[in-house]
Amino acid sequence: MSDALNIDLHTHSNCSDGSLGPAELVANAAAAGVQALALTDHDTVAGLEDAQRCAGEHGLQLVPGVEISASWRAQAIHVLGLWVDPCSPQLLRSLRAQADLRWARMGKICARLTKLKLPGAALLAGVQAIPGVPTRAHLAQALVAGGHAATFEAAFRKYLGKGKSAHVAVEWPALEVVVGWICGAGGVAAIAHPARYSLSAGARRRLLGDFAAAGGTALEVVSGGNGAQHADTCAALAVQYGLFGSVGSDFHHPQAWNPLGRSLKLPDCVTPVWRSFGL
Ligand code: AMP
Ligand code: MN
Ligand code: MN
Ligand code: MN
Repeated sequence: MSDALNIDLHTHSNCSDGSLGPAELVANAAAAGVQALALTDHDTVAGLEDAQRCAGEHGLQLVPGVEISASWRAQAIHVLGLWVDPCSPQLLRSLRAQADLRWARMGKICARLTKLKLPGAALLAGVQAIPGVPTRAHLAQALVAGGHAATFEAAFRKYLGKGKSAHVAVEWPALEVVVGWICGAGGVAAIAHPARYSLSAGARRRLLGDFAAAGGTALEVVSGGNGAQHADTCAALAVQYGLFGSVGSDFHHPQAWNPLGRSLKLPDCVTPVWRSFGL
């Protein structure tokens, strides 16, 4: 492990809701000086083979990953699986079940949009035409393209966000089940973007306790654009709950606010999750 290593353990390709193909993502990361990169698409490992091939060409270490949606006390929690075996039959079976849940939810959201006098069937067909795992981000893009929302964010504010007119809650599998999938595929589980959940400080602590008890390994201490103060708070929590620290941009698009591999310095008090993986 080297402190100088530029590491980004949370990124998306167009196999989920990112805009770059896996190989393009790796090439961009290499150009940005990233030396170790995890591709962590939502509930799919479909991009890992291409990403791995391209990483070899660029002399970049690819960490095979995935970002799995889980439920904890009625709250959706995103769990990163890092260093997973992308060929694990059990993981692939579990991710197919996640895709089924996603398509079922997409159908229900589009039915709600129809009730709101929007062309739900056409919007659903638009999402179905995109290869890969469907996310609300795809539908937000379709809403913007169809002129039904002014911006991507407005689509969430008006229709798709929690509590909004077309929101449909999903019963994702329980947190401990998802951690089990990741461990079963030889990976380590990390809680993604801990600041993004609407949880009280006490609930956040209970989440970390339950996660650690279930076999969870790490906390994404440095996430996207979150500042140093947030990273220090998360680092202290990680230490308290016996978790390693991870860093990730949650990169989706080159135009967005969270560029690949930038400002991802882990506070010194927490042990990096990559230490035991030869990085
Ligand atoms: P899903 O996993 O289908 O619920 O889609 C979630 C994805 O949509 C996230 O990973 C983000 O990329 C994006 N997203 C979720 N909420 C928002 C929001 N309020 N504004 C912009 N993007 C969002
Ligand atoms: Mn996303
Ligand atoms: Mn996420
Ligand atoms: Mn993500």
